Amino acid sequence: MPPRRRSCLKPAHQSILLWHVLVFAWYLRNYLGDCAQNGRLVDLTHTFDEDTIYWITEPNLRLNVTHNGTAPGQDFWYQKDEFSAATHGGTHLDAPSHFAKGRWSVSDIPLSNLVGPMSVVDISRHVLDNPDRHLTLDDVLEWERVHGPLPEDGVLMVRTGWSRFWPDKKMYSGTDKVKDVAGLRFPSIQPEVADWLIRNRKLVGVGIDTMSVDVPNTRPSVHVTLMEQNIYGLENVNNLDLLPESGAVVYVMPMKLRYASGAPCRIVAQIDQGGHSASFALCVSPNYLILLMTVLLAVYWLGHEMVGILKDAI
Ligand SMILES: [Zn+2]
Repeated sequence: MPPRRRSCLKPAHQSILLWHVLVFAWYLRNYLGDCAQNGRLVDLTHTFDEDTIYWITEPNLRLNVTHNGTAPGQDFWYQKDEFSAATHGGTHLDAPSHFAKGRWSVSDIPLSNLVGPMSVVDISRHVLDNPDRHLTLDDVLEWERVHGPLPEDGVLMVRTGWSRFWPDKKMYSGTDKVKDVAGLRFPSIQPEVADWLIRNRKLVGVGIDTMSVDVPNTRPSVHVTLMEQNIYGLENVNNLDLLPESGAVVYVMPMKLRYASGAPCRIVAQIDQGGHSASFALCVSPNYLILLMTVLLAVYWLGHEMVGILKDAI
């Protein structure tokens, strides 16, 4: 019986290799754990129902269930329904054509503009219960001081905290009287912010957790300033309190209505998408160097073992 071949690596080298393998296993466990936590999806949409708040001049949503029971002449369950709704109500998208002639309607907006980095400027601590406190340029500059410039081709979301009043029309809108435009009061965006954004940053959309990106009954209009530049709006956004101020990716999914100036919209955020910050961390982390060293050592060790096996065979 041939003598058992001895490993080509010295015991000290074997110990170092084992240590690296253990560190790599620990790192992989943590990294995969992070990935599982990252990529979490958050729904930024209010559910559409009979309580959904529409713009003050518009009718409420109507859902008419036209059949709900056993299908005629069949033995299975069958439901069908029809609905009617204004385009500007609930969580919805304002297409640029809403306030700018010749600009994109809902179906014209490129898909690439509907997915991108999202920045959340949180002014809820300034607003509290004051409907007359609006996003200021200082709020945006303070956000940028912490997080850097607003990402290119991104969506800026303004968190006022007003979604907590949904669907209480009086608290949310300032009035519950039909067509009482003069009575509208809620936090929004100061016009000079929109003016600064179009001159200094390259955004694809601006959203807010109140009824409008415009300060009620105030001119110049934020809608007009943004939409002249083909920047869309998102209104009545929900759950912004569940998001980080930066690092999330937003998916804006309006109903693809041709010629429409707005559409009901499902908006979803993905927090720290795996291919985003996590992979970036992998590239720059010192752990990456450990991983690289481990792989190189493993290749070196396997190579030597293979050479040993071949020599034994010869
Ligand atoms: Zn609208």
